[in-house]
Parts: sequence; structure tokens; C-alpha cells
Amino acid sequence: MPVVALIGRPNVGKSTLFNGLTGRRRAITHDRPGVTRDRMDGLVRRQGLRPFLLIDTGGVHLDEAGAASPDVPKGLQGFEREVLAQAQAAVREADVLLLVVDGREGLSPLDERLADYLRQQNKPLIAVVNKVDGGEQENTLLLEFYATGLELQPVSAAHGRRMHELLDRIEELL
Ligand code: GDP
Ligand code: MG
Repeated sequence: MPVVALIGRPNVGKSTLFNGLTGRRRAITHDRPGVTRDRMDGLVRRQGLRPFLLIDTGGVHLDEAGAASPDVPKGLQGFEREVLAQAQAAVREADVLLLVVDGREGLSPLDERLADYLRQQNKPLIAVVNKVDGGEQENTLLLEFYATGLELQPVSAAHGRRMHELLDRIEELL
């Protein structure tokens, strides 16, 4: 079954998106050396769409071995290293990468770093601009994210806005 990963810094709404897409059904958890996983995997099934496994990387934490791993870029501090480690774990396993960003907070340096890292992987990648709760703000909120060079899909996970468009786009990328 194809695997789709939600990647992004804390608080952008990855888990809200995960819950909205999966209906909170919990499937599998995995363990990898160097990375402690408290990860959520869930099945996304929609009529007319190919089922896929969605992973929410939010619960992945580096342990000592992971912190010493050559994969994790040097010079990054605490939580930045963890977010990068999460992205790396997702890149290994996923067929489609979704970089989740916070449309209300705007583009952060860590978003840009993640976008740079993910763009270098040879996997389909789009940026999901979450927290675009109303249509009237959409164009304004999206503007600064064009700097990432990524395809942008605005959604509001909390309000279920434009989620079907996101699913259609994922289907095309699978
Ligand atoms: P995560 O850390 O990336 O998993 O983010 P969470 O899913 O835990 O969400 C972080 C916060 O953002 C919570 O307070 C959510 O209620 C809020 N949030 C998530 N999605 C949306 C959204 O579409 N609109 C708004 N306004 N808030 C949201
Ligand atoms: Mg989370």
C-alpha cells in the first residue's frame, strides 16, 4: 500500500490533518534504531480513491544514537534536529511527502530548511498550507509560501476546508 507522510514543525496542524483524513483509526507503529517512535499510522480510505497509509511524524524523537547519526545535519539545535530527523524517517518510508506549514504564522526559517531538504529527495512533494480557514484570506496567506518553489495546497484541517482537493491531489501523486 502506498505511504504518504505529514512532515512539518510542531503546531502547524499535522495531527489535526491526520485525524481529519483517517478518522483517527490507528494502525501500525514501528521501531527504528536511533529513533524513538510514538508515531501514528492510519489508513485513509475514500470512495473512488486508492487507499493509502498516512503517517504523522509528530511523535518521533531522537534518542542518543539518533542524535549521533551521520544522517542528521550537524549544527542544528534541539528541536530542529528532531524535526529534521522526523523528516528523514518519513523520506525513507513514504511515497508522497506533504510538508505541512501554518498559513496564519507564515513561512518560518525551519519551514524553508525542511523545504530545501525535502526538495532534494526524489519523491513527489507538495506543501499543505494549513489554517487557511476562510476563502477571503487565501491569496494573502499563500503569497509568502510561493518562495519555497513548492506546489501549494491550502486547507483548513480544523474546519475540513478543501480537504477533498488535497485528497484528489494525493491520488494523482501516488
Ligand atoms: P501538530 O503539532 O503539527 O501536530 O499540530 P496540531 O494538530 O496538534 O495542531 C496545533 C494547533 O493548531 C492546535 O491548537 C489546533 O487546534 C490548531 N489547528 C490545527 N489545524 C487548524 C486549522 O485548520 N485552523 C486553525 N485555525 N487552527 C488549527
Ligand atoms: Mg502532532
